[in-house]
Amino acid sequence: MKKIILLLFFIPLVSFAHWGKTGHRVIGEIAAMNLTPEATAAVKDLLEGRSIARIGTWADEIRSNPDYNKYTTWHYVNLPLDKKYEEVEHKGDNVVKAINLCIEGLKNEASTQEEKAFYLKYLIHCLADLHQPLHAGRTEDKGGNSIYLKYFGRKTNLHRVWDTNIIEDYGMSYTELAQNLMGRNNDPVTIGTAEDWANESHQEVAKIYSEIEEGQNLGYLYNYNNLPLVKDKLYKAGIRLAAVLNDIFKA
Ligand SMILES: [Zn+2]
Repeated sequence: MKKIILLLFFIPLVSFAHWGKTGHRVIGEIAAMNLTPEATAAVKDLLEGRSIARIGTWADEIRSNPDYNKYTTWHYVNLPLDKKYEEVEHKGDNVVKAINLCIEGLKNEASTQEEKAFYLKYLIHCLADLHQPLHAGRTEDKGGNSIYLKYFGRKTNLHRVWDTNIIEDYGMSYTELAQNLMGRNNDPVTIGTAEDWANESHQEVAKIYSEIEEGQNLGYLYNYNNLPLVKDKLYKAGIRLAAVLNDIFKA
């Protein structure tokens, strides 16, 4: 009986998805390939030898622990489609505030090792989440989580299509995809701030919303049209995460 109650309690949390495991690992792998030796050493120390790719999914995994319920809103920001991040009054926490808090916490010499490890794990995750356009979507459809669709005939929702379905369908392991994306390392990436990343994803999400209809069955054409943006966002997130970490841990 207790098991059933627990399951019921956790269903709503689990159903709110995030860049799937592959997406987070790709971003972590690209970031690791672009760190300075100083940042590599500092990150390794704080993560106790675990890789950024491995830690990338931690903040989603611990969501099953009620102690972490207060961090649920750290994974996204909701905005009306006609407003930029800075044009909205933000009550409570969101992914932009979380990223800035983690950067400050890591730069603060008064933070303990344990606190720094916490901030680093959330920074790695939240920066990645913010690059999934649906993490800067509308409140009313929970960032596409309540827009129900089919993907090659299987039931899903718009958020999940962008978190997981397109990436999984591409069929590469996270290391293969990271290597594949590093092949474009001549593409300059503007680094910017968390506020800029929110506005970038928000601009993309407006287009994504405009191109789908509830109940639609998405397939090859949708992948063909949208895989380039998914790859672009994974690459940018990896490069930006590396830049932020290199700055935090500069000698
Ligand atoms: Zn997340």
